[in-house]
Amino acid sequence: MATFDSKLSGVLGDKTAKAFKELFGYTTVGDLLHHFPRRYLVRGELSDISALREGDEATILAEVYSVQSRRFQARKGTMLEVIVTDGTAKLSLTFFNQAWREKDLRVGSKGLFAGKVGRFKEKMQLSHPDYEMIPDGNDVDSAVAGFAGQFIPLYPSSAKLPSWKIAQSIDLALAALDDVEDPIPAPLLEKNKYPTIRQALEQIHHPNDLDATELARERLTFDEALLLQLLLLKRKEALRALDAVARPHKENGLLDAFDARLPFELTAGQKSVSREIADDLAASHPMHRLLQGEVGSGKTVIALRAALTVIDSGGQVALLAPTEVLAAQHQRTFIKLLGELAQGGMLGSSDSSTSVVLLTGSQNAATRREALAQIKSGSAGLVVGTHALLGESVEFKELALVIVDEQHRFGVEQRDALKSKASITPHLLVMTATPIPRTVAMTVFGDLDVSTLRELPLGRQVITTHLVPVEEKPHFLERTWQRVREEVSQGHQVYIVAPRISADISEDADFEFLEGSDSTLSAVEELGPELQSGPLNGLRIAPLHGRQSADVKDETMKAFAAGQIDVLISTTVIEVGVDVPNATLMVIMDADRFGVSQLHQLRGRVGRGTSPGLCLLLTKSPSDSPARIRLDAVASTTDGFELSRIDLEQRREGDVLGTNQSGTRSHLRLLRVLRDEKLIEVARAEAAILIEAGLSQYTLLEAALKKLELDTATEFIDKS
Ligand code: ADP
Ligand code: MG
Repeated sequence: MATFDSKLSGVLGDKTAKAFKELFGYTTVGDLLHHFPRRYLVRGELSDISALREGDEATILAEVYSVQSRRFQARKGTMLEVIVTDGTAKLSLTFFNQAWREKDLRVGSKGLFAGKVGRFKEKMQLSHPDYEMIPDGNDVDSAVAGFAGQFIPLYPSSAKLPSWKIAQSIDLALAALDDVEDPIPAPLLEKNKYPTIRQALEQIHHPNDLDATELARERLTFDEALLLQLLLLKRKEALRALDAVARPHKENGLLDAFDARLPFELTAGQKSVSREIADDLAASHPMHRLLQGEVGSGKTVIALRAALTVIDSGGQVALLAPTEVLAAQHQRTFIKLLGELAQGGMLGSSDSSTSVVLLTGSQNAATRREALAQIKSGSAGLVVGTHALLGESVEFKELALVIVDEQHRFGVEQRDALKSKASITPHLLVMTATPIPRTVAMTVFGDLDVSTLRELPLGRQVITTHLVPVEEKPHFLERTWQRVREEVSQGHQVYIVAPRISADISEDADFEFLEGSDSTLSAVEELGPELQSGPLNGLRIAPLHGRQSADVKDETMKAFAAGQIDVLISTTVIEVGVDVPNATLMVIMDADRFGVSQLHQLRGRVGRGTSPGLCLLLTKSPSDSPARIRLDAVASTTDGFELSRIDLEQRREGDVLGTNQSGTRSHLRLLRVLRDEKLIEVARAEAAILIEAGLSQYTLLEAALKKLELDTATEFIDKS
């Protein structure tokens, strides 16, 4: 008999066990039993292909008619197209980058195929359908009838381990499984009317009643949520137990001087968040706080006030920005806001001043040497930089506070790399303009305290957003350029944002190329000359993108800020934080190429001055496509929380949790942070109660947690 910890080879034999190890990393019976069906095929609910309509969730019994594998020329990848027929009609099945499926799907073989019916170029299709092939030699009727129950589980599978093989292995494991103790305390199960672990596993792998299966799935999802919350709460506890240098407010220091010269009154929200941060800094354990606030809600001032508090007490501050453009802009903003307070080290400067130093990867050797020296001597109170700050040669005298701006671009590892430059754990402030729904914050940043800025400073302008469907209404394109000219003639400035640098270079390495749409309209380097010699003739136009040298980028941004450039044609390098109040119009080319949150960030660059902002989203996507629906959502609301929800719903879970969480992710097979909000909240509360009561009395839970901790730690070591 077996337990969850028994080796798979003992139950399945060496060969099959090895396949599970190689493909999924499973080594134990418990691992395998937690490999859950992605869906169930329901016998007796087969559809005719000829009766399918777009949007249907369908299961069909069909024969493979033809198989064709194509390689894309312009980019990496293959496309496998399989045509199947059931005698009533033909249907196309498509798989991207899964050429290996050709082996399963031989011409003439029969199988069950399930998925959502879509349409591509007027043809019905199933994209990445689930399927179960009927083994050779079986006649179809007895094969279909022969599948175990009424519901046939379909597992995430591969050529080596097809779904039926996985089902078979799971049956063996379940049959071998001894009476196992439930890791979840019985009162907790009773409270939620959850089945025991054994019942839940039986029900999810061998469903006989969909309601019971649903409850089983919920219980198993709850297990994951509970473990994750235990992990995060324990991490938080551990952080709280660390020592840090307390940085209480110092009377008549730099902060007081700064407050006295601030040209505006802080909003109520800014005040209360500043107070939360000041309280954290004054404590002798490290601050670990996430500050989320809409674009333009005034996070920079809060960060600067936190920095000054720390500098006043003799510490240094590192601010990590995601791009060189942004780092340079932050330095300028800080120097401007600080005025004479930032003249530290200069001739005639007062004692109560500091200096703001920039460190980026593309600085010349002399500038870099000078910056490094100032950082090491401690004369640089505030150091602003990109990833370059993480470099080995960067040594601080006394790093006391790390501020990470626009968090979503930085992983936990990078945060940690910077923290390791301090002799004693520094305080940490993470800032993001992408608002995060509560449970996501609870899950992804469960070990951080969260502050939220909801209001915008008075006088912020409204931003209106319109969709421009250039395919349906070509004259709208001309109208767009005319609008640009009008804006410029009124003394304002314009951003034109394009998804790519040139026809074959995109800004982000992981940029997803979509079908079609290869026009020069989407590339900065081609668009500039085209507009300059065409509809925007006579205007002062400049390009900006990530392939330019830091000097060029910096010069261009400065010139744009000074009003010497009318139209900036740029990639997403301007996405975060760029602040030029005189810019009032933003035109986004091929807007369907961008994510919802990204568009929201981008348009936050306009309407920052005294005039309202306008954002035009150009797109060629057809009117009822998912891309258009997304763009409509962006045009219809400026509520960042609403939009980030839409955005998250459209992304895959792994992306929501972030790559840095992949160690955790392999343990989260069922949990979906948005869908399972309620469950996560309950789990969070229960986790707190269990920790309070003392985890040591729940031995199984504690063991499971240890395993999770170990796996996430290993993951971290693997990566660094
Ligand atoms: P974000 O949160 O997007 O980083 P910023 O900190 O860049 O926002 O602030 C946006 C603009 O609002 C800046 O020009 C800043 O100087 C200004 N600002 C910040 N706080 C206030 C305030 N309380 N009153 C008026 N303007 C403010
Ligand atoms: Mg900002």
